[in-house]
Amino acid sequence: MNKKILIDLIKIRDFPAMEVDGKYSPGSAREGLRSVREEAVFSFTCRRCLEAPCIEVCPAEALEKDDTGRVVRNVNLCVRCKSCVAICPFGTLMDDLFEMKPPARMYDLNDDQELDLFIRACPEGTVSYYNGEEDPENHIYKLNDKVMVKEYIWNV
Ligand code: SF4
Ligand code: SF4
Repeated sequence: MNKKILIDLIKIRDFPAMEVDGKYSPGSAREGLRSVREEAVFSFTCRRCLEAPCIEVCPAEALEKDDTGRVVRNVNLCVRCKSCVAICPFGTLMDDLFEMKPPARMYDLNDDQELDLFIRACPEGTVSYYNGEEDPENHIYKLNDKVMVKEYIWNV
């Protein structure tokens, strides 16, 4: 069974830092290196500035926009200086987002056992199983086939 989870980005802001994260990607290997939380933040929290200061300030040219206008990070180029975090005028990027997490704390969400472990390792109420569909009235949106995200998105 394809279990889905809900990541509550609104609740996650109550915690100064997340010790764990997840990876899940049906796409390229490069995408697979990025955490699911980063994907969620750039997809739903980021306001997609036209002249994005995060991209301008990045000393490693690690940030760019994809053809939908979403900011993406090339993990192999990023030097984790957090200049993008500091300059974002909307506080989109949380301080711990780009910190390197030990492999044991990056759960593979394609694996049901690791999915269970990920939910248990996250602060209570921030990540849970979810069987529903998108529900904009309750701020719930689809990131991919596995992951739904709860967030106050900027363009509604
Ligand atoms: S500066 Fe912030 S809101 Fe603007 S594109 Fe970058 S991350 Fe998104
Ligand atoms: S942490 Fe630094 S190197 Fe990485 S994307 Fe942000 S500005 Fe670029």
